[in-house]
Amino acid sequence: MDQPKIIVAVRKRPLSKKESKEGQKDIVEVQGNTVIVREPRVKVDLTKFIEEFNFTFDAAFDQQYTNEDLYQQLVKPMVQAAITGTKITCFAYGQTGSGKTYTMLGDYNVVGIYTLAAYDLFQLITNSIVLSVSFYEIYCSKLFDLLNDRVQLIAREDAKGQVNIAGLSETKVHSVQEFQKTVEMGIKSRVTGQNSVNQDSSRSHAILQINLRQHNKIIGKLSFIDLAGSERGADVVEYHKQTRIDGAEINKSLLALKECIRALDLNKNHTPFRGSKLTQVLKDSFTGNCRTLMIGTISPCHKDAEHSLNTLRYADRVKELKAPQASSSVDQLTRELMLPRQYIMNNYLFESPQAVKSNSPPKLFDHDNGDQYEDEVQMKPNRNSNLKDKYDELIQQILDEERALKKAHRDHIDDLIELVNDEMKLLQAVDQPNSDIEEYVDGLDHVLMLKIEKIMRLRKKLQQFKQHLMDEQDLAHQCQTHFYQKPHQN
Ligand code: ADP
Ligand code: MG
Repeated sequence: MDQPKIIVAVRKRPLSKKESKEGQKDIVEVQGNTVIVREPRVKVDLTKFIEEFNFTFDAAFDQQYTNEDLYQQLVKPMVQAAITGTKITCFAYGQTGSGKTYTMLGDYNVVGIYTLAAYDLFQLITNSIVLSVSFYEIYCSKLFDLLNDRVQLIAREDAKGQVNIAGLSETKVHSVQEFQKTVEMGIKSRVTGQNSVNQDSSRSHAILQINLRQHNKIIGKLSFIDLAGSERGADVVEYHKQTRIDGAEINKSLLALKECIRALDLNKNHTPFRGSKLTQVLKDSFTGNCRTLMIGTISPCHKDAEHSLNTLRYADRVKELKAPQASSSVDQLTRELMLPRQYIMNNYLFESPQAVKSNSPPKLFDHDNGDQYEDEVQMKPNRNSNLKDKYDELIQQILDEERALKKAHRDHIDDLIELVNDEMKLLQAVDQPNSDIEEYVDGLDHVLMLKIEKIMRLRKKLQQFKQHLMDEQDLAHQCQTHFYQKPHQN
């Protein structure tokens, strides 16, 4: 039973009574795994037309499906895998009011996937395994413990690169009822805790973590994340400065999350965990033996079409690059890394002067003059082996530097994308009525300075690398001279 590492699903909620009363139209249809949005639009000449959008996912659910249906099909197999040590992460992504919390937590009448998972866990675990729950929230890049009166927590990365949340409380639970009580407590604290004055839960990510412990050692981990409202990422055009900052932060974390999931699917070496607090604290869930489920939730309403389409596009991009390309791109990377060494060996170290002149393919040994060359090498063992060691060392350094340079370049691109994002937001903001031109000027100046700084830093690395490539050439020529001191030219 080889389950995919990433599953992307979409769930459409029903029209609410209020929406029906308002005469809102349901413009979303689910056919199999395909979601179709038919958006009524009006042309400039006032003729009406319908624009149709199609998206296909690993699974799609319309309003008929219950939390239990979704759980049985998508989450249960993951919970079973969690028992045998696979790290499980499940996200709900979507506009505020689209059904994220309904799916995760449920409501007065219906249980959500938190409880359904807990129910199965208690059925599946043996007596020696203890279940414990942590529940925290990320709001404006800050962490708050929902099971400890919302005290603020700090995430730290240790020397081994593991991210720990210092002081995060963990509550042992021995039954589904205890589990539900604990979760309820957390939900209450989300709204009424000491730091929650004026806080709107749609602006924070809520992370429920279930740990399976055996003899005090964690042997399984399940994380359920009720993300901030996806529309909050667009709050950058809001008038209030703090709201804009929050919005930018949410936007950043949702973008970073998408990149981390994609990186996971591609088995990329570079995963942009540091892109946001959310992805930083979830680092462990994206490394090693892990599986991720992303549930995009959408409203059926005409009025929400733009947000629903944004959610569908986001989910679509998460699943866009699927595994088949993964191995070939890794192969390619390996080949790229091997190339310089081979190239250098062939082109400099073992090539005879004639080969250079005649442009013939590089040879390891020239058979006609092979003996002479070998004699020549043996004649100067010390000098040559010194030179050769020095050369080998340099090649190793170049290979390491190349790897580091490429990594720095990739990070650089990530950073630039973020900065371009910031610039676009500045433009969006300044185009709004009542915008603050000074804020725009300062903001743009800041972004441009950051760009210059980043380019300079990357360029410095590049210059260093270039210098070592040149050193290599010199050294290779020296080697050539010593190895092939023209015995045949007499
Ligand atoms: P979100 O957490 O995304 O902001 P909620 O989960 O709070 O949204 O859902 C908004 C409203 O819609 C709630 O009243 C919820 O009960 C209802 N709702 C959401 N999804 C469903 C669904 N699949 N079936 C029935 N009601 C739903
Ligand atoms: Mg919610």
